[in-house]
Amino acid sequence: MIDTHCHLNDFEAFPDPAKAVIDATEAGVNRLVVIGIDEEWSRRAVALAEQFDSVWAVVGHHPNAASTFSQDSLDLYRLLWANPKVIAIGEIGLDFYRDRATPKEQHYALQAQLDLAGELGAPLVFHCRDAYDELLPVLEGRPRQPYLMHCWAGSMEQAQRANEIGCYFGVDGPVTYRKNDELREVLAWVPLDRLVIETDAPWLPPEPHRGQRNHPKFLPFIASKLAEIRGLEKDQMIRQLNENAGRFFGPKFTSELGEG
Ligand SMILES: [Zn+2]
Repeated sequence: MIDTHCHLNDFEAFPDPAKAVIDATEAGVNRLVVIGIDEEWSRRAVALAEQFDSVWAVVGHHPNAASTFSQDSLDLYRLLWANPKVIAIGEIGLDFYRDRATPKEQHYALQAQLDLAGELGAPLVFHCRDAYDELLPVLEGRPRQPYLMHCWAGSMEQAQRANEIGCYFGVDGPVTYRKNDELREVLAWVPLDRLVIETDAPWLPPEPHRGQRNHPKFLPFIASKLAEIRGLEKDQMIRQLNENAGRFFGPKFTSELGEG
């Protein structure tokens, strides 16, 4: 299984990343994509990708960190993209749930990183919270790029719009939460070839681990729930999800997949 979004670069949550990688592998999660949220965490993601065969990195500036985004950040991400194990720009986007950065700062960082990804031909991983109706028009007004909406939490109508522009949909722990029937309805509708699974560890633990610190090794609970929603055998679901992740992240990821 491939965890397409986790934060092994959170050294407080994962003081021993080597152990975390082993524990994940033992649970059948043998490929991890570690996501940056600012310059420091992006550098750490790349260092982990260089250290572990089963880790890849995504570099970029999270909307909550947009107040620290600068031309230097952009130059760093361009430089890091040259690394063969850096496979996308992210997580970027808009977050109007938290107010750690102003909407203006968030839009500036978003536009600059969209342009950078366009220049590099890099796929993009989005964080979007309480902001789909702001983010989707931005993307609809641009030339199409490969997009992944991490931890999808939008309505059916927003999902249809995201689907129109070719988005992939990241499925996380909340799919297992009892109250989330609307989310499960949307995920039953999303085209099968646009789904990927992720833990977002150390956040958003799936049932039955809610209340604990999340870990990539809990990914199988998300795979099982999604297989159930889609009426597929778990193995069949996982094969489809792996194929989707490979198609989204592209040759920098799949050339390594071929070796394993
Ligand atoms: Zn994240």
